[in-house]
Amino acid sequence: MKIKELIARQRRSISFEFFPPKSKEDEDRLFEAIARLEPFEPTFVSVTYGAGGGTTKNTRQLIKRIKEETSLTPMPHLTCVDQSEEELSDILRDYLELGIENILALRGDPPSGTAKSAPEASLCHAQDLVQLAASFNGFSVGVAVYPEGHPEAPSLEADLFYTKQKIDAGADFAITQMFFAYRFFYDLVDRAERAGIRVPIIPGIMPVTDIGRIKRFSQMCGATLPASLVRRMESAASPEEARRIGIDFATRQCEDLWRNGVRYFHFYTLNRSQAVTEILRNLDLERPARLASRA
Ligand code: FAD
Repeated sequence: MKIKELIARQRRSISFEFFPPKSKEDEDRLFEAIARLEPFEPTFVSVTYGAGGGTTKNTRQLIKRIKEETSLTPMPHLTCVDQSEEELSDILRDYLELGIENILALRGDPPSGTAKSAPEASLCHAQDLVQLAASFNGFSVGVAVYPEGHPEAPSLEADLFYTKQKIDAGADFAITQMFFAYRFFYDLVDRAERAGIRVPIIPGIMPVTDIGRIKRFSQMCGATLPASLVRRMESAASPEEARRIGIDFATRQCEDLWRNGVRYFHFYTLNRSQAVTEILRNLDLERPARLASRA
């Protein structure tokens, strides 16, 4: 079923991101995590894609296995950087044949870190891939948005201008980059509303359990980590105490979003179930039925 329709009729939506495992052991561990997360009845689960297409088949394999062996609705990510329109069309056609109805359309990052694609790549921006995916008439299409602005964007205004273009090209929903200071998300939602963006903007929640790892991620994607969180986690007496601080932080982040009317939460799971499970239990956001009674 299409995410656009699912989130329109649900009183709350939770969803989980996974990445393709690198080994058989990682895959077994991932499917154990998926089995523990499945009872939360997520609206969808998404699977990342290696920009440039070198790992296309890993994303496809995981999507196919989730579709065949679980009750979940899997959504592949797809990037257009360094891939021809023909290759991308083949991938999209194949997903439709597999019964996939949702796609997250992204630009991706060129391997060199430059903003330029290889000359043979005809689609330069996510907007072009949104247009291509929408032209198949079979997908609900999502896009990425950036509460603090995309790192390459000259200004928040320019970034929002291009975000609006990709929504207008046919996107039905947007998922945010991880953020830790709530104001960036609320500010994005306000600015998007003023710009006439009407699709759901789903906050991407990253549970911080390993501060070293999250510092690296947030540096790469330009997400500000609150100094107080870093200080508290780095001075924790044990890794377990640091983990607890991170889980409490994400719980409070979701509570604040819920109090402010946000009904969609997308969790970056890093292929693990424990942190997300604890957050959902803390929030009592376990099942749609329970959520409905809190609405
Ligand atoms: P775009 O929307 O094309 O934007 C990229 C930059 O170009 C921005 O600065 C934008 O302002 C600017 N821009 C956009 N359109 C135009 C235009 N017409 N003219 C001039 N400038 C323009 N990466 C992966 O490789 N694999 C994944 O699976 C993956 N999943 C992700 C999931 C989420 C939820 C998020 C938030 C990011 C994900 N990424 C992934 C990272 C993403 O690919 C990078 O952030 C990439 O740098 C930008 O992708 P985009 O789709 O936002 O690009």
